[in-house]
Amino acid sequence: MFKSNKNDKKITIYKDALRITLIYTIIASLWIFFSDSLLGKITKDINDIKYISMYKGLFFVFITSALLFFLIKSKLFEINKSHIKLAKSYQNLKNTHQKLIIIKKELNEQYKALKSSHEKLIRNAYYDFITGLPNRILFYEMLEEMINIHKKNKKRLAVIYLDIDNFKTINDIVGHIKADNLLREFSQKLLTVIKDGVFLSRIGGDEFGFIVPEINDNIDIEHCLKKLNGVFRGEWKLDNYDFFISISMGISIYPDDAYDAATLVQNADIALNKAKTSGKNKWCYFQKEFNVEIIKINEIENGLRHALSNNEFYLVYQPIYKISDEKVKGAEALLRWQHPQKGMISPNDFIPIAENSGLIIPIGNWVLKDANRQINEWKSLCRDDFSISINTSIKQFQDSSFLNIIKEFSSVGLLNPNNINIEITETSAMEDVETTINALYNLKELGLKVILDDFGIGYSSLNYLQTLPIDMLKIDKSFIMSMMEASKETKIIKNLIELAHVLRIEVVAEGVETEEQFKILKDQGCDYIQGYLISKPISAGEFRDKFLPKKSHYDGQ
Ligand code: C2E
Ligand code: CA
Ligand code: CA
Repeated sequence: MFKSNKNDKKITIYKDALRITLIYTIIASLWIFFSDSLLGKITKDINDIKYISMYKGLFFVFITSALLFFLIKSKLFEINKSHIKLAKSYQNLKNTHQKLIIIKKELNEQYKALKSSHEKLIRNAYYDFITGLPNRILFYEMLEEMINIHKKNKKRLAVIYLDIDNFKTINDIVGHIKADNLLREFSQKLLTVIKDGVFLSRIGGDEFGFIVPEINDNIDIEHCLKKLNGVFRGEWKLDNYDFFISISMGISIYPDDAYDAATLVQNADIALNKAKTSGKNKWCYFQKEFNVEIIKINEIENGLRHALSNNEFYLVYQPIYKISDEKVKGAEALLRWQHPQKGMISPNDFIPIAENSGLIIPIGNWVLKDANRQINEWKSLCRDDFSISINTSIKQFQDSSFLNIIKEFSSVGLLNPNNINIEITETSAMEDVETTINALYNLKELGLKVILDDFGIGYSSLNYLQTLPIDMLKIDKSFIMSMMEASKETKIIKNLIELAHVLRIEVVAEGVETEEQFKILKDQGCDYIQGYLISKPISAGEFRDKFLPKKSHYDGQ
């Protein structure tokens, strides 16, 4: 296209030059022809002709010069005009070029931003922002991929779910930011101990997932589990607090436990749950029977939903004996569930399910009201300081209804705070220390006494004796049972009682079954005992008959 333009221009230039030459030739020839023939007609004198010819020539030169001047001038004007036009177009072109450079730069930047936000999106979608580890989604996709490969080459793999026991407590004590740092530290350490090919992911919260590809036997997994456990072993220092961290793990194996990623993950989670509910700080392999257990749990949960409205609950009472007074000074209210088909169900079997499902809130409120109704009924039979202890779980403190009932009943004189004690286990308290401390202070402000239950199992942190606002400490029955004269447990109990007394905390020993245990506890300065030695938990009527003075006006039950 450019070439044809150039040729066109060349042709135009030739044409123009030819035109000028032609015009000149024609005019000059015409001039010579006409002027000479005119001159011949005017004169024949040779001198005149010479003289006129000179002027004619000069005139010709003058005219042709003028003609040339106008022709060249008009052409030069034209050239100049196209020059200016060209310069203008060049400038425009330059500007457009500059603009294009800027646009290119902007486009480049936009592309870079787009690329980085795309990468960010991928990172957010597939990676955990706290630890930088692959997240649950990537874990799942990876597992599906590995299962597909293993389907062809007939290999086995294991999924391990790891959960830090009571991480919530660490969170409560040191705050989220420091707890997140700790999670980061854990993930780095975990990365250093896992073998090449093991896929590590943060599933969420304090839960990590591992895919161990190509396992031959359980020895391979055991080796891996031991290594993972080793990461957390020892003392962790954070914010002047010393933490002993333990972990629970659940394991499921492809193809033994499931053929697809979803079921494999679900089974690892079930196994982890099992490890947690059976005391934490352990690992547990998935077993098919766990599914049967889940069905049972579901049945219990469904039954619990109707138990309150069907009046299937009742309370039994176990006396609490004051050693120095040699008298029963109170009772612990223990919940019983008479299931219409299954018969009596132990609280050990249904309380954890009620806690997990949140049903413990209405159930716990019922326990509070019924124990309070009972003490009001016994008012005329017992001394003012006689109290009933009720068991509570942390879930009830996370909800306002429990405290509201106490406030409401106290304000209308239906509840005397001196007659109700609140028992909370250390394990439950540790699930949410902040909420527990707040709730316990509120309860104490209202005049109720607080008892730390089951002390001696779980963490038995002496720190909590100072942190939690408690009035009494209940030493767990497992401790009392292994207690013999001069045994290690006896010495621990002695020191514990002394320490509690320094902190103005009274001590109750539960699960006291023998005279020997009673004697040891009495010698160590224990304040109260509770257990089969005095009485098993019994119905309200039996309790009244056995432990409350009979009064003639009592109308019976
Ligand atoms: P706990 O609070 O530690 O209650 C003491 C348990 O030890 C009771 O079991 C009681 O029957 C048993 N026990 C008492 N004396 C002896 C003894 O001398 N030897 C032996 N071997 N055992 C003794 P129970 O009634 O089956 O209650 C089990 C657990 O269920 C309770 O442990 C408590 O944690 C929970 N629980 C019971 N009622 C309630 C309730 O109303 N609310 C809540 N949240 N938990 C409850
Ligand atoms: Ca208790
Ligand atoms: Ca207890």
